[in-house]
Amino acid sequence: MTLPDQKPLETPASAALLEKAERGERLNHAEITALYSLPLPDVAAVAHHLRLQRSAPDTATFLIDRNINYTNICNVGCNFCAFYRTPRQKDSYTLDYDAISAKITELEAVGGTRILMQGGVNPALGLEYYTGLLRHIKAHHPSIRIEAFSPEEVLFMEKTFGLSLDALLDTLIEAGLDGLPGAGGEILEDDVRAKAAPARIRSNDWFRILDAAQAKGLYTISTMVIGFGESFEQRASHLLKIRDQQDRALALYGNGFSGFAMWTLQTENTRLAGKAPGASAHEYLQQLAIARIALDNVPNIQASWPAQGFKVAQAALYYGASDLGSTMLEENVVSAAGNHHRHNATVRELVRIAHDAGFRPAIRNSRFQILEYPDVDIYLGTGANATLEEERAVGAG
Ligand code: SF4
Repeated sequence: MTLPDQKPLETPASAALLEKAERGERLNHAEITALYSLPLPDVAAVAHHLRLQRSAPDTATFLIDRNINYTNICNVGCNFCAFYRTPRQKDSYTLDYDAISAKITELEAVGGTRILMQGGVNPALGLEYYTGLLRHIKAHHPSIRIEAFSPEEVLFMEKTFGLSLDALLDTLIEAGLDGLPGAGGEILEDDVRAKAAPARIRSNDWFRILDAAQAKGLYTISTMVIGFGESFEQRASHLLKIRDQQDRALALYGNGFSGFAMWTLQTENTRLAGKAPGASAHEYLQQLAIARIALDNVPNIQASWPAQGFKVAQAALYYGASDLGSTMLEENVVSAAGNHHRHNATVRELVRIAHDAGFRPAIRNSRFQILEYPDVDIYLGTGANATLEEERAVGAG
């Protein structure tokens, strides 16, 4: 995407807009769109000011978790996806319960508290695979929260298993589901979605499923991916739709999105390679800062180290982000699309990113409640007793 000409801050209109944003007043669509034309340092300063007000000012949080992709077989065929396979491809897979359990055991060994478990839409799987899997995990790993299944997977289950959405969610919750990640948000404008993935879940279903999950008290998160060639107006619309849903969910259920995660499109090995512009670090940081300003009802904004790398993620802590996401241990989807940054992080690395940026590192749970302030001296090896064995003992990975 071509960046707009950057206008000087000194115009009265832009100065007034930034002052309004800095006061924490709610911005409308035109005002959010106008932020994209302002110098990034000025937008970032406002975003950081709001971040200090809306989340613990001295703290940068993160989660110890693991991604588990239980199957890569998928019949949706998104143009931007390098992860999915057809059943006939040699490297297609569906994990059995024991293989998934072994991955969770590794997570438990490093002090992890949740799994983020998603897959392709695999038409060979029946409802009993999903409910059996949830029950197996709860029986063998009772302390691990299971946040699983994107709205796309839930839509497939709803259409396939003859259950209403309400009954389906009740069934999954009864089997052990703790949360429904809001993956697949991308840009919640159907023009953009239809071009990037004609069979992809549309925005009304994405919101309908997450609204139902929020009504049942499930954990959810809001997401965004930039770089499809979407306009700034469409990005602003995406943010406003999330803000509106958050207003609704908090008012009706007292349970909305726990946070907002945003990353940049990766197209290597996909059908969008050379066709979608992707997004630079500048655009990523700009979008993050504008999200912080626009989403006045979502206090936890995540930096994305898997898509942007550790260094940009660290800088993001001054562009509105208050959280470094999670360790992941395993990432298969973004990495399949040619992302050349690391696909997992150790506790030690995330402690260093937060500490060196001037924040107190804090390990949180998926609800963004702080579980522990890791001892920086031990993790970074500056204390008298910092040995590798001790780092391992505290879960440095
Ligand atoms: S993004 Fe998800 S739904 Fe789309 S093809 Fe990949 S695995 Fe399937």
